Amino acid sequence: MRNQQKHYINGEWTESTGSETIDVINPATEEVMGKISSGTEEDLDKAVKAARAAFPTFSRSTKEERIQWLEKIVQGYEARKEELIDVMTDELGAPLSVSEEIHYHMGLGHFKQAIESLSDFSFSEDRGGHTLLKESIGVSGLITPWNFPTNQVSTKIASAIAAGSPVVLKPASKTPFAAVILAEVIDEAGLPKGAFNLVNGSGSVIGNGISSHPDIDFVSFTGSGSVGETIMKKAAETKKKVALELGGKSPIIVLDDADVEDAAKTALSNIMTNTGQVCSAGTRVFIPQSMKESFEKKIVELLPTFPVGDPRKEGIATGPLVSEDQWDTVQSYIEKGEKEATLLVGGTGKPEGLKTGYYAKPTIFTDVSNDSVIAQEEIFGPVSTIITYENLEDAIEMANDTVYGLAGFVIGKDSELLSHVASSIKAGRIVINNAETDFNGPFGGYKQSGIGREWGDFGIEEYLEIKSVHGMPTS
Ligand code: NAP
Repeated sequence: MRNQQKHYINGEWTESTGSETIDVINPATEEVMGKISSGTEEDLDKAVKAARAAFPTFSRSTKEERIQWLEKIVQGYEARKEELIDVMTDELGAPLSVSEEIHYHMGLGHFKQAIESLSDFSFSEDRGGHTLLKESIGVSGLITPWNFPTNQVSTKIASAIAAGSPVVLKPASKTPFAAVILAEVIDEAGLPKGAFNLVNGSGSVIGNGISSHPDIDFVSFTGSGSVGETIMKKAAETKKKVALELGGKSPIIVLDDADVEDAAKTALSNIMTNTGQVCSAGTRVFIPQSMKESFEKKIVELLPTFPVGDPRKEGIATGPLVSEDQWDTVQSYIEKGEKEATLLVGGTGKPEGLKTGYYAKPTIFTDVSNDSVIAQEEIFGPVSTIITYENLEDAIEMANDTVYGLAGFVIGKDSELLSHVASSIKAGRIVINNAETDFNGPFGGYKQSGIGREWGDFGIEEYLEIKSVHGMPTS
């Protein structure tokens, strides 16, 4: 049982001013696996004051100092590897292999990338008629979701440190313990007091407080569209900059020369990885009409290669959903889908033999119309939709017929067509034939998938203000 009744404020673990706590549930056992204190506005205010006090020195720290801090964080993060993997399996329900290969590595990747990006980053540029200076934006408030406990937190912290922006972090209360470990790692990295602060608690108190706090200059939020909207409205009161990483309903376009097995594996891994709780997951699969039968057959054949079950058991690919609420939401979408389309595999209820835990049946619908609810709304679970097309331009048009624009995937062989589809999908990130992730590739959405970009050098830019100096002395 984990217990964290303190917040990390001004370089110290500090008692909460409130006495309320929040239970953290292990989604595989449905049992309480830990408790955190539910922070108060007073706790938040202390953290913001500490960050504000750190700003003058932290924002003027040198590139070399920031690289040293980031290197120490990398060392500390690597030293806590086993514990990070263990805690994410408990709080999120991610299978041990997923906690290691995806969650642990993504968190680490962002810190390493920040070091690399910062090494080449120029905070000043002579542009002929003026000199451009890039300066820390001020105090940043970071609000993160539960689905990637290290990835979401690390990309924001790494970019903020690289930019010299002191932060106040509020991690998701469903998965707070990976962030607590990260705070312990940062504590040992020797950052100036107040440069990093963590206040645990609910979105309605701490998240809301961050959005409206007059001494916070920038809010970087990852989460749902509805909360993003609330944050923008609150932030408008103090005219602060807001970056939003929101939801998605990403298309996978399968070309007619694609290998059917590659296409089916891609469609399945998009909903089975992290139990489909991935903002960029490809959940609308556009396949040529001529491939429909063979594709559906492959999906049914390959589904058992992604076993669902106890995340601590060897060989398990997919664990439970994060919470009972999330399970209910997914069930209601499956019920809708049963009325709107043809069920190829899965359905409502729990998979056989998995009564305890928020497990859902991997569910794939076919004969789906792109304007149906299950093809338009983000489900955030192991649910996919198959949509057929006769000609590629129709597929592209349907792929773009969504309010979202976070990501897109293309599977096939013809280079010209692959490039054509990649440049035609209106989304911030396109992955061709399951290419490897580059941590310097900007991440963020078009349309209602968000505002701004994270990761690598573009991520650092978010935490900077631009100043043009005219008449800068040259010596
Ligand atoms: P969420 O409900 O929006 O919560 C995200 C964070 O916001 C949590 O820390 C939450 O706190 C906090 N929050 C809740 N109400 C708030 C308020 N009024 N003001 C400020 N903060 C508030 O999202 P989620 O359910 O955790 O995550 C799932 C969503 O995130 C999906 O829509 C997914 O697509 C999106 N997502 C997007 C990306 C991306 O990069 N684009 C990545 C991952 C997830 P508590 O929950 O602790 O109360």
